[in-house]
Amino acid sequence: MSDIKYLVRKNILSLVPYSSARDEFNGEDAIFLDANENPYGNLNRYPDPLQKALKKEIAVLKGVPEKNIFLGNGSDEAIDLLYRIFCVPGKDQALTFAPTYGMYSVSSAINDVGMITVPLDDNFDIPEDFDFEVTGNISLKIILLCSPNNPTGNTLSEERIIPILEKFKGIVVIDEAYTDFSCRQSFLSLLYKYPNLVVLQTFSKAWGLAAARVGMAFAGEDIISLMNKIKYPYNISAINQQAALNALKENDSVYQIITSLKVMREDMVARLKELKCVRKVYPSDANFLLVKVSDANSIYNKLVKQKIIVRNRNSVVRDCLRITIGTARENDMVIEALQKL
Ligand code: PMP
Repeated sequence: MSDIKYLVRKNILSLVPYSSARDEFNGEDAIFLDANENPYGNLNRYPDPLQKALKKEIAVLKGVPEKNIFLGNGSDEAIDLLYRIFCVPGKDQALTFAPTYGMYSVSSAINDVGMITVPLDDNFDIPEDFDFEVTGNISLKIILLCSPNNPTGNTLSEERIIPILEKFKGIVVIDEAYTDFSCRQSFLSLLYKYPNLVVLQTFSKAWGLAAARVGMAFAGEDIISLMNKIKYPYNISAINQQAALNALKENDSVYQIITSLKVMREDMVARLKELKCVRKVYPSDANFLLVKVSDANSIYNKLVKQKIIVRNRNSVVRDCLRITIGTARENDMVIEALQKL
């Protein structure tokens, strides 16, 4: 743990983790009287705490060894664990570029970790003149980047991310929740080059499993071991592990859906641009569009009255709505409703 050890909270380094019955013995064909389970039923046994079967499949799909994969109760769990591993409450800080995914600051606030928020530039990219002096602050432990970014939809440029990975001595999290909808390359291939890099992905978006709550973190073995050390022992239910395994078996249909959502996204861009109330549709590498309209609050409320729910992002990007790409019929309905306004 040479490179990152000095970043880790001392109590986490010295922690003796909970050792569950299924950690100590997980072979098959045994009589299990070790975990106070009920001997009857289909869901009577605790699940594999390290989700080995699922990680084996993910390893093949992503080309990343199992020892470099952490699975969490959504990627939100991974975000929270990273704060808990690296940031001393009331002392350490994190940094992100806004507007971005709201959980980074909510999770930092829950953990009493100060958040430095740097505005993205006019193209919603990391500013070219980003002041690296701030990254030299020894209390700054984590920088969180979201690419493609939520709610803006664009990918952050690699030329601006790389200097952060090169210069910052703390942890750099690149949240790629929407990467499957982008034609840009994932940062997974740089894991070996940067021991401080954590890449987050999820089964909640392209894989259609938001209800199952399965998020992935990819990082060096040291970081993954720390995440496993402090997570709840059985953080992903057996049902949800199986749901993700089933989705991986059906990956052909997942890829078809991704392709179709991307085609519909471009179709929606063209249709939205034709509308009177639309001022701008921002380019998107995700499964949603950020749309500037004449009056976001009023249009949002009018859509709600028609039972069409989009995300009002007026508070973070003036007069913008974030519209997820739905089924063809749902997309038609939102366009028709906006046409009538
Ligand atoms: N990261 C980003 C950028 C997101 O937009 C979301 C959910 N909206 C998440 C992470 C959370 O994903 P999960 O469902 O895996 O917790």
